[in-house]
Amino acid sequence: MPDSIPFNRPCLVGGELVNVEAAVRSGHSSAKGPFTKRAAALLREAHGAADVLLTTSCTDALEMSAMLLDLGPGDVVIVPSFTFTSTATAFARQGARIRFCDIREPELGLDPDHVRASMGPEVKAIVTVHYAGVPSDVDQLGAIAAEWGVPLIEDNAHGLFATHHGRLLGTFGRMSALSFHETKNFVCGEGGALVLNDERDVDRAHVLLDKGTNRRAFMEGLVDKYTWQGHGSSFGMSDLLAAFLLAQLEHADEVRSRRRHVSETYRRMLAPFADELRVALPYEPADAGPADHMFYVLLPNASLRPGVIAAMRERDVHPAFHYVPLHRAPAAAVLADRFQECPVTDDISGRLLRLPFYNDLTDADIERVVEAFVGAVRHQSAVA
Ligand SMILES: *Cc1c(COP(=O)(O)O)cnc(C)c1O
Repeated sequence: MPDSIPFNRPCLVGGELVNVEAAVRSGHSSAKGPFTKRAAALLREAHGAADVLLTTSCTDALEMSAMLLDLGPGDVVIVPSFTFTSTATAFARQGARIRFCDIREPELGLDPDHVRASMGPEVKAIVTVHYAGVPSDVDQLGAIAAEWGVPLIEDNAHGLFATHHGRLLGTFGRMSALSFHETKNFVCGEGGALVLNDERDVDRAHVLLDKGTNRRAFMEGLVDKYTWQGHGSSFGMSDLLAAFLLAQLEHADEVRSRRRHVSETYRRMLAPFADELRVALPYEPADAGPADHMFYVLLPNASLRPGVIAAMRERDVHPAFHYVPLHRAPAAAVLADRFQECPVTDDISGRLLRLPFYNDLTDADIERVVEAFVGAVRHQSAVA
């Protein structure tokens, strides 16, 4: 019996455990330690950002963005329905209401036409997600945001180091959020980062992360004691996790080339079957640098999917579906500002299947996944 092919496997790239040991021995294991500084500096330079703050998760980075923008009751925030719950809960938690907008094919990011039609004076921010690390239409979304004088925020959980017109995703909005959850491209168990593209947000972001204090000004010798300044929480990443993360980020080229290889191998092996099976392979825009966060396929109809998943699992290959539309979720009845139809989200959500994807997935593994997938779709199409 061949080995199980899981959906995801967090991979060590080298140096993680050595770094963690050094962090333990250094005695500084709390937030804003030496490894945190190095990892944040690496990310800040890559983005050309005003600052980058490492956080306990992407969810927390998004919560910080909602706090920084003083969003609250009476405000409405535009969020795609096709995303993870955090994109919405982070803003709902501050008391803002969520207005769900649809996505557009082929990139599966926010549809600028639906966003434009959904704008009003009560809308105080637009949050965009770069699904699979493929750029959402930040040109149009940025123009709509500018027209209404509201910030664009990028939930860039999938798209670290991906580019649009040669520019890193996460640099188009006023701020962006990254995730280092074990299912993402670069991991440390649980972790995230808030990328600040606007200098005016930097001081307050540090107060928010430092539990509402001006500890940073104190550490920099600007004040002689630190005091309570306002809202905040314990948003900072432990230096033990930053130590783990730094090793991954320092091997970014290797991680990215491994993941590129996995994507390309899937595409090459599946392409000959796409027409026969009527499946669409993931969109890769010509002027974008890929993130290779995942490899998804779009089945011709939603009714095939449960059978395809079951048949692949029979062969110990574990694909996964993805987001259940948020505009139809139980929480939307309470936290959405109004119901808006999102037909593309409904359609894509039912047909999308993600294939196993991780750094050390071998060509032989990929061949097995492709065989299991092709066999399953053929069989399901015949019995349907
Ligand atoms: C994973 C993910 C998040 C949440 O990230 P955490 O680090 O687990 O909080 C948010 N948004 C999107 C689009 C994600 O994929």
